[in-house]
Amino acid sequence: MSPDERKPQLVADWQSLQRIFIRPEDEASKKTLVKYMEQILFGLHDFLNQHVGVTEEISLVRLAEEYTDTIINKNPQKKLGDVISDIINEIAPRAVNVASPYFIGHMTSAIPFFMVHLKAITAALNQNVIKLETSKVLSVLEKQILAKIHRLIFKFDHAFYDTHVQNVDTSLGVFTTGGTTANITALWVARNRLFTPCSGFESIEKDGLLKAMKTHDLERIVILVSRRGHFSLKKAGGILGIGSDNIIPVDVDDHHRVDLKKMGRMLHECHLDPHTRVAAVVGIAGATETGIVDPLPALADLCDRYGIHFHVDAAWGGPVLLSEQYNHLLTGIERADSVTIDSHKQFYMPMTSGMVYFKDPHVMDHIVYHASYVNRPGSVDLGIKTLEGSREANSLILDSALKIMGTRGYGLMIDHGIRTARHFADEINKRDMFDLVTAPELNILTYRLIPPSTRQRLRQADPDLKTEINQQLDRINITIQRRQREAGKSFVSRTRLKIRPEDHHDIVVLRSVIMNPMTHMGIILEILDEQEAIFESLKERLSE
Ligand SMILES: *Cc1c(COP(=O)(O)O)cnc(C)c1O
Repeated sequence: MSPDERKPQLVADWQSLQRIFIRPEDEASKKTLVKYMEQILFGLHDFLNQHVGVTEEISLVRLAEEYTDTIINKNPQKKLGDVISDIINEIAPRAVNVASPYFIGHMTSAIPFFMVHLKAITAALNQNVIKLETSKVLSVLEKQILAKIHRLIFKFDHAFYDTHVQNVDTSLGVFTTGGTTANITALWVARNRLFTPCSGFESIEKDGLLKAMKTHDLERIVILVSRRGHFSLKKAGGILGIGSDNIIPVDVDDHHRVDLKKMGRMLHECHLDPHTRVAAVVGIAGATETGIVDPLPALADLCDRYGIHFHVDAAWGGPVLLSEQYNHLLTGIERADSVTIDSHKQFYMPMTSGMVYFKDPHVMDHIVYHASYVNRPGSVDLGIKTLEGSREANSLILDSALKIMGTRGYGLMIDHGIRTARHFADEINKRDMFDLVTAPELNILTYRLIPPSTRQRLRQADPDLKTEINQQLDRINITIQRRQREAGKSFVSRTRLKIRPEDHHDIVVLRSVIMNPMTHMGIILEILDEQEAIFESLKERLSE
C-alpha cells in the first residue's frame, strides 16, 4: 500500500527508536498500548468468531502475486497501531481459521483464550531456559513440570520424584520445539546408547558414526516402526546417520496397528544378523493419520526380550493420559524408555512446543554437551542436554494451563473428542454414501465417499477392475476434499492408506480430527451433507 501523502513522514532516528524500544511511562501512551492489546485480544477473537468459515476464497496464485516485493524499507512505513490493524484486516482473513469448529482436518485447532495471555507473558519475560543465567526460576519450574508429566506417564513412587524433581545431575525429559525434535532427541539417545565404549573408542557422539560402526563391526543400524509412523522418524534417521531407509516400516494388521507377528519376525532376523543392530522400536500412541494406538505392552515385551530401546511416539495421544475414561487406551506407555508428547497438540498450547521424556533419569547423559561461555561442565543448565539452543519458557504456559484447567478440564476435552469421533463414525455407518475406513480409537477417523452402486460393483469386481474402480473413487474423493476446502466453510483433510493389509494398493481417504470442543454432531452432519452435495454436483456435471 502506498503511504498516505498527507501524513507526516515516519523517520528512523535515535529519538523515535527510544520511544519504540522503551516501555512508555506516561498515561496517554499506556492507554494507547492497552488499546492495541484489546485489538489483539478481542478484535482478532471477534473476527475469528464472526467468520466461522475456514479461509477467504482467494487462490494461492493471486495471493502470491501480492507478496513479491523484496526490498526492505529504509524508513519506517507504519506505526504499531496501523500494523496491528493491517494484520487484523488483511492477514487474518487470508490466514486459515484453525479455530473454527468446522475445521476438523488437522491437529492444529482452537486454543483456550487464556493461552494468548500466557504466550504474551512468556514473550514479556523473554527468559531463555538454555541456561540458569537467563532463566533462573524458569529452569527450576521446567524441571518441576517435567516431573509432573513424567509421573503421569511412568508412575514411579514419591521417593523417585523427590530424588529427581530438582536433581541437577539427572533429567526426566526436556521441552522441545515440537514432536519432530522430541522424536529426534529420543532416537539420538537411543542411537548413542548402542555404542558402548571400548579401547580406542569413547562414544559415537565423539568418535563419529564411521568409527563407531567399525569398532563394533556393524554394517547397519535400523529402527522399526509401523508403516503409519510419522515422517519425523525418517528425518531422525537421516540426521543421525542411520539412513532414512533404515527406519523400517512394518505392515499393520486388520486393526491398522503394527503387525506383531511381522515385527517379531523382523526383530528375530535382525538379531540373527551379527552386522545389524536395532537402535529402537517405536510404538505409536495415536498415529497421525488414523489415531490408532499400537499394542504397547506387546511391543514392550519384544523390546525386553531383545534388549532394545522402546520409544513411544505419543505426540498426539499423550494427553489422553489425563482422561479418566480413556487413559486405559495408552496402557503400556509406562514401559517405554522414552516418550514424545506434543504440547501444541492435545495440551492445546500455542505453536510451538513439544516434550520428550525418559524413564531412566541418567540416560540423557548420552547427549550431554558443554560450552565454555555457558553450560560449563558440572553446570545445572538445561541446555546441556537439548538439541535446541535458546528456548522459550514453554513450561510456564503448560504449568499455568494445568493449574487453570486441572487434569479434569483437559479430560473433558479429550473425552469430547473421542466421543464425538465415535458418533461421527456411527453416522458414516448409517449413511449409504460413505464407508468408514479406520474407526476412531482416539479422536481421528478416516472414511471415503462411495456411491451404493459402486460399492456393489466393487464387491464383485476382479482385481484389475477393483483397481480401476478404486482409482475412480480416489479422484472423486480428492475432488470432494479440494472443493470443500476451496468453498471455505469447512475442512477435512485427506491421506492414502490400505483398507486391508493384504490389499495391493493405497486408497484415498478423507481424514477427520476432532479436537475442538465446539465441534458438535450438528456441524459434522453439515459437513457430511456438504460432501454429498459436492458429489451430486460432480455427477451432474459429468452427465451433462
Ligand atoms: C504431529 C506428530 C509428530 C510431529 O510433531 P511436530 O510437532 O509437528 O513436529 C510426530 N509424531 C506424531 C505421531 C505426530 O502426530
